[in-house]
Amino acid sequence: MTNPPVPESRTYVHEKCQGVTEVRENSFEEMSNPLSDVPQTWCSVCEAFGPVSEFAWADTGEKITDYRARHSARATSVERLFCSRGVWFGVLGVALIGGLVGGYFLFADSRWQMQLVMVPFTAFACVLIIGAIMIESTKTILWRVCGFRETRLLK
Ligand SMILES: [Zn+2]
Repeated sequence: MTNPPVPESRTYVHEKCQGVTEVRENSFEEMSNPLSDVPQTWCSVCEAFGPVSEFAWADTGEKITDYRARHSARATSVERLFCSRGVWFGVLGVALIGGLVGGYFLFADSRWQMQLVMVPFTAFACVLIIGAIMIESTKTILWRVCGFRETRLLK
């Protein structure tokens, strides 16, 4: 079975000004994620951020808040919490600090030039690894909750 191609963009309408905005790449992934708790999104006509509740998908006419609720109905409160921005920033922040402290002890006996390079490198590597684990866990949760690992395929 081949996977359907992932759409490159989707358009939403701002209720207030009826202006349309096309989202791509990261913004599209974020807006398509039903477990996203991002409260505001960009309107390219207003040239300002507005509350997500004022926006609807152009192709289906469904409000984005309704879309989120419909596709995330099966999510438990723990899953919602795990996918929230607060937990993401918290976990990545801990990974960064943990990496800095770990790198400091790991290279405590090295010359300072080596420490200068290796301590930030260790922190960076920690954030990358923990970030990859977070992304993978989030995709697994999304798959369980809405049937798709790739939420850009959702309608
Ligand atoms: Zn607008």
